[in-house]
Amino acid sequence: MNTIYDTESLEEFRRRNAIQPHRMKLFYNALFKHSKGWNEALGTLPEAARSDFETGIQFQCLELVERHDSEVDGASKLIFKTHDHHLIESVVLRPKTGRTSICISSQVGCACYCSFCATGKMGFTRNLTQAEILDQVTQSNRMIQPEGRTIRNVVFMGMGEPLLNIDHVFSAVEFLRAAPFFNLSDSRITVSTVGIPKAMERFVETFPKMQLALSLHSARQEVRQRMMPQARTFPLERIRETLVAASRHGKVMIEYLMLAGVNDREEDFLALEKYLKGLPVHINLIPFNEYPGSNLQGTPLEQRAEFSARLKAAGFDVTLRYSMGSDIAAACGQLVQHKQKEALL
Ligand code: SF4
Repeated sequence: MNTIYDTESLEEFRRRNAIQPHRMKLFYNALFKHSKGWNEALGTLPEAARSDFETGIQFQCLELVERHDSEVDGASKLIFKTHDHHLIESVVLRPKTGRTSICISSQVGCACYCSFCATGKMGFTRNLTQAEILDQVTQSNRMIQPEGRTIRNVVFMGMGEPLLNIDHVFSAVEFLRAAPFFNLSDSRITVSTVGIPKAMERFVETFPKMQLALSLHSARQEVRQRMMPQARTFPLERIRETLVAASRHGKVMIEYLMLAGVNDREEDFLALEKYLKGLPVHINLIPFNEYPGSNLQGTPLEQRAEFSARLKAAGFDVTLRYSMGSDIAAACGQLVQHKQKEALL
């Protein structure tokens, strides 16, 4: 069935119902700019066309099955169910300073098997479609509309490796930035990757002003391989070439999850400093949300702060991140994993 994200089919519906373009604009505004429900959006169309739209177009393709609101920092973790009964996660973030953001999933599970990630332990099931990726944003917008909020930042940092689902992710990104739909500026969309050079190059060529984030996590090849098996295929030297090319269009975000005794020692600092020297990057130092089934521990705050101060002293832009939603298992894949276990009991 066609979805509300299927622009070509919607254009056919418009033509066959002889709807004026300005009425269609009202319909799209209701759905994507004002976060209205299906009936209200249908109400913007001529009466004679409504039943055709109602029966031929699917309003939402995910079912929201759980919502967990953090009591600590205003994050909301959402679990959606796909039509074939798979669970995926999104996290809405309401930072006190800054815009409302959403971290969305691009795959069911993930084939990258990063050692620190709950999603990586699930294995890979399938890619999400463009509509399933976008529906996380649309439904979250409707959820937060009574708060007077709208999603202003979209980050592809949830379940899955976005650049291994490149076609659907690219078409979702096109929809997010398109003026008639979400109309987000390029700088408000971030795609995060474990580092797949050819796909990163394609991303930068297609969307030069969009944010690219590299999950680096270590500048030492052997440590990185232990943390992220994908690193065996794409060594650090190759990824650095890609970073050089990407940084011609602006700063690249570097994600660095700090794990005690794994990537937070003196040799790790020195390797990171050397690897990123001369590149216009912004480094995010991320705390680890510990979860059952993982024997890893996060670097204590004091040590993270010192690591951050030393990077700043070396001339880098650094943000020391604090854990958001730690009381609601907001790290990627944790809640779905928990829910899957519940279902087995
Ligand atoms: S961190 Fe990202 S790429 Fe790695 S396993 Fe988890 S979801 Fe996949």
